[in-house]
Amino acid sequence: MAVDPLIELRDVNKYFGELHVLQDINLSVGRGEVVVVIGPSGSGKSTLCRAINRLEAIQSGTIVLDGQPLPEEGKALARLRADVGMVFQSFNLFAHKTVLENVSLGQVKVRGRSREDAVKRSRELLERVGVADQASKYPAQLSGGQQQRVAIARALAMSPKVMLFDEPTSALDPEMINEVLEVMRQLANEGMTMIVVTHEMGFARSAANRVVFMADGRIVEDRTPDEFFTDPHSDRARDFLSKIL
Ligand code: ADP
Ligand code: MG
Repeated sequence: MAVDPLIELRDVNKYFGELHVLQDINLSVGRGEVVVVIGPSGSGKSTLCRAINRLEAIQSGTIVLDGQPLPEEGKALARLRADVGMVFQSFNLFAHKTVLENVSLGQVKVRGRSREDAVKRSRELLERVGVADQASKYPAQLSGGQQQRVAIARALAMSPKVMLFDEPTSALDPEMINEVLEVMRQLANEGMTMIVVTHEMGFARSAANRVVFMADGRIVEDRTPDEFFTDPHSDRARDFLSKIL
């Protein structure tokens, strides 16, 4: 168990019909910790992320964020979504809004900031992720790597307690992967609590405090990157690593 847990999943179970996609998941993520989640396709990684910001309901168990059980609905749920920043594989920006509006909107609507404060903060964040000069463009006018960095800025704009990344570089052309990983590395160094689903093992080795390996809806291993990569305990993990490394 983490010393100062920000997120705790206890005995979490989730089904899609007959399919038991999350099986007795116990996971604790400490404040400032970076947990990389890896595992074969279909093992439940995305569902785990979606359960944490309640895009998916769970059938049993509890998920606690910063000492509070996840709210079911209403304003509290909107606040939870703002506290849990999420970055998806497909950037999911609002196509008909400029980059600056994409990053500003939620701050005004959900966090209740003035338009002026929101714009100021948005510009600072766009600067931080290296796309300040793109502020007045529309998403389609940006490269994939730039769009994903805008998506990260948009999530950060809400002042989240934790950031979830679900394969943030999987849809990117190879030359753009590093610019996104670099922004994530910087965030990790600044102490952001992060859960990152990725196949980028270089990132896992260098930025993660822990690697969680999932297979068939279960957490099979939960160890330091060093331990995991040099001596995976399970056949499933050994098999997985032999295919991707
Ligand atoms: P991963 O992200 O590790 O590839 P997912 O969490 O996306 O895995 O999916 C886990 C399992 O749940 C897969 O078998 C997938 O087909 C199934 N699944 C995911 N979403 C749904 C859904 N909305 N309805 C039914 N089955 C789903
Ligand atoms: Mg997935």
